[in-house]
Amino acid sequence: MSEVLQIEAEDDRFARFRLMSWWDQPRLAAARVLVIGAGALGNEILKNLALLGIGQAVVCDLDQIEQSNLSRSVLFREGDRGRAKSVIAAERAREIYPGFNVVPWVGNVVYDLGLGLYRWADVIIAGLDNREARVAINRSAARAGKVWIDGAIERLDGVARVFDPACGPCYECTMSANDWKMLAARRSCALLSRGDLAQGKTPTTPTTASIIAGIQCQEGVKLLHGLETLVGKGFVFEGLSHQSYVVSYTRKDDCPSHDPLEGVASLGWRVQETTARQLLEHARHDLGPGTILEFHTDLLSGFDCPQCHAQADHFASLGRVTEGEGKCPRCGTLRAPRTYHTLVGNEPFLDETLGRLGVPAWDVVSARAGTSYRHYELSGDAPAVLGPLAVPDQQTQGRLMQVTMNPAKEPR
Ligand SMILES: [Zn+2]
Ligand SMILES: [Zn+2]
Repeated sequence: MSEVLQIEAEDDRFARFRLMSWWDQPRLAAARVLVIGAGALGNEILKNLALLGIGQAVVCDLDQIEQSNLSRSVLFREGDRGRAKSVIAAERAREIYPGFNVVPWVGNVVYDLGLGLYRWADVIIAGLDNREARVAINRSAARAGKVWIDGAIERLDGVARVFDPACGPCYECTMSANDWKMLAARRSCALLSRGDLAQGKTPTTPTTASIIAGIQCQEGVKLLHGLETLVGKGFVFEGLSHQSYVVSYTRKDDCPSHDPLEGVASLGWRVQETTARQLLEHARHDLGPGTILEFHTDLLSGFDCPQCHAQADHFASLGRVTEGEGKCPRCGTLRAPRTYHTLVGNEPFLDETLGRLGVPAWDVVSARAGTSYRHYELSGDAPAVLGPLAVPDQQTQGRLMQVTMNPAKEPR
C-alpha cells in the first residue's frame, strides 16, 4: 500500500472518533501505555487500547494461560494453554490493530519491574487482583511522577480508580488499618506469601471485567487529551443492582508514597555489566564519601537456617526466589531470607553486578548522603526491555533519544 493510501485507511478506521471535536488521534498514536496484568482486566484493557488506536504499550504479567482463563479473556484461545499471558495478549492486540506496537514483559511486577518502564509511560493502567501489587505499582508510579489507573473486580462488582500521587490521594491513602494488617501478615514470611499470591482465585466475570476496563481506558483517553478525569476518585459499580456511584478519596498527610524522584540522571549503563562498587563509587564521586546506595526493591543476599544454623549466600530479587530454594539443603527447614535494600560499602559482595544481585533491568537506584539524594537510571537496559519500541520512529524519536542515546559512559 502506498503511503497516501495507508494514511487514508487509517483515516477511515478512526473516522467515527474524529466526529468528537476534541478527539486527537495523533495524540493516541503517540501515546505510551504501561499495562500491568494480562488477566481478565488486562485482556479487556488491551482490546480497548487496540480499538482506540493507541500507538505503543508494554504489557506485563508473570503467568501462563490456563483453561480457566478462557472464560474471561477475549484475547486467549483454546490452543494457547501454557503460553505466557503477556506474549499472547500482545500478539492478539496487534491483530486487532496492526498499528499498535505492543511489547510483552514476563515477570513479577512487585519485584522485577524496573522504574524505567514507569518513567517511559505516559499513563499506567493496572488490572491486578491483590494489594501487594497495587502498593508496589503505587510507589513506583509516585516515584516516576505518573498517573495510574487501577481496576478491581470481584463477582459482579468492580471499581476503577485514578491516582495521581504527586497532587492527590494515592492508593495507600485509601488503605485502612485492616488492609495494612493483612498486607503485613502476608509479608511477614516473604517466601510463603508469594505462594498465596500465585493463586489469585478471585471470582470474576468477563462482563464485569469489560465494564471496569472500559471505564479505565476511557479515563486513560481523557487523561491523554488533558480532559478532567476521575483523579483522586473511584467509580464503583455494583453489578447485582446495577447501581454505580463515584467516591472521593482523601489524601493522608502522613502518607509516605507521594514524592516523585527529583533529578534522575540517566547513566546509560546496564545492570548486568555494572557492579555495585562501580555505582557506589560513581555516587560517591557525585555526593561525597559516606554515600550509600538505596534500592527500590527487596533484594536477597542469603539464607539463615533457624533449625541447624547453616548460612548460605543467595543473591536474587525476592520475587525470583522459590519456596524450594528457601528450604535448608541440610535439614529441610524453611530458612529465613536475609533481605536488604541499602548498600553502605562494606558488603562482601560489592563486586557482583547489579543484575546478579537482583536489581531489575532498567531500574533506578538512589544514592543518599545525609539528606542529599541522587538517582541513577540504568538506562542502558532500555533497548532490551522495549524491544521494537526502542527503534526510534518519527513520532517517538525525540523522546527516545533522551532515554537511550545518552553518551554511553562506561562503568569505571
Ligand atoms: Zn498516599
Ligand atoms: Zn537447616
